[in-house]
Amino acid sequence: MNLNYLIRKNIKAMRPYSSARDEFKDLKADMVFLDANENPIETDLNRYPDPQQTALKELISKQKRLAVNQLLLGNGSDEVLDLIFRAFCEPNQDSILTLPPTYGMYSVLAQLNSIENIEVCLTSDFKIDVNQVLKQVTPSTKLLFLCSPNNPSGNVMDVNAVTKLLKGFNGLVIIDEAYIDFTGLESWTQRLNEFPNLIVTQTLSKAYGLAGIRLGTCFSSKEIIAVLNKIKPPYNINTLTQNAAIDALQTNEVFGQVSLIINEREKLSSALESCFFVEKVFLSSANFILIKVDDANKRYNELIKYGFVVRNRTTQSGCENCLRISIGTPEENIQLLTLLNTFK
Ligand SMILES: *Cc1c(COP(=O)(O)O)cnc(C)c1O
Repeated sequence: MNLNYLIRKNIKAMRPYSSARDEFKDLKADMVFLDANENPIETDLNRYPDPQQTALKELISKQKRLAVNQLLLGNGSDEVLDLIFRAFCEPNQDSILTLPPTYGMYSVLAQLNSIENIEVCLTSDFKIDVNQVLKQVTPSTKLLFLCSPNNPSGNVMDVNAVTKLLKGFNGLVIIDEAYIDFTGLESWTQRLNEFPNLIVTQTLSKAYGLAGIRLGTCFSSKEIIAVLNKIKPPYNINTLTQNAAIDALQTNEVFGQVSLIINEREKLSSALESCFFVEKVFLSSANFILIKVDDANKRYNELIKYGFVVRNRTTQSGCENCLRISIGTPEENIQLLTLLNTFK
């Protein structure tokens, strides 16, 4: 992989915006700050947020056992993914590879950035067809998106298959680990040093219960992170988000919640197996379950009628008659099963 070749020319040439806080970083309390046109009346929010999110990044990098310069934060992982497109994909020229059925944002961002999206479907049991993927690569294919555990199927991608792609593809491989906390497996972040073309994204939106604050994390080599850091909006992580994330990451609440959700997932999976209209319950390593039913549209509408909203995935490739059900609270899951058992 040649990073210099992958970076767009305009990105290489641009000079980043230099904010007041970038030019004078030492926000010491005994100085008078007249450099950012802020309102001087002190509230907790009258100052711009730290553009480099120093305290939050130090905390995350310690927990993930990675250097601070291997970490980028985004306004949700969706912003991180968009920055990756804008840094490495030349509009109307480059392409990316995605493996449907998968997270919808990759294709939305490809369209938004005018990048061709080459789709190579996962197999019928949602595994990667490595040879097929590598066959579709062209000299202008810059990015390959893998989602593990995959949304909407819930399965973890095979380590050997992913390794083959990391070694066999000359562009960047993005592994979206939005659901990694539900797997008990080691993150690919622990193998960043082995693979210079690897980018891992995670989020506080799922296991950490903080979808509302919008915080996505991105881990890669310091060279790739430097490129993304250069083009990110200067104040992309607001003060409220930085503070809420620091608070959440310092408690251990997430671990208890994750084990409760995993426990509920296993109970719900086996209960769903015995519903007569459920044809298949796919093995999930995430906080949702994909099921194949007799008639997805019919069952979806029945659920809506009784006030239960699930995701109808029937139009996604490989997901005919499939519904995706997020794991609710123990009470919600019992209510759901009680309702499903009345279906005819
Ligand atoms: C939910 C989800 C995300 C989360 O995106 P945020 O912008 O961080 O909320 C990312 N990737 C996948 C595959 C998801 O399902």
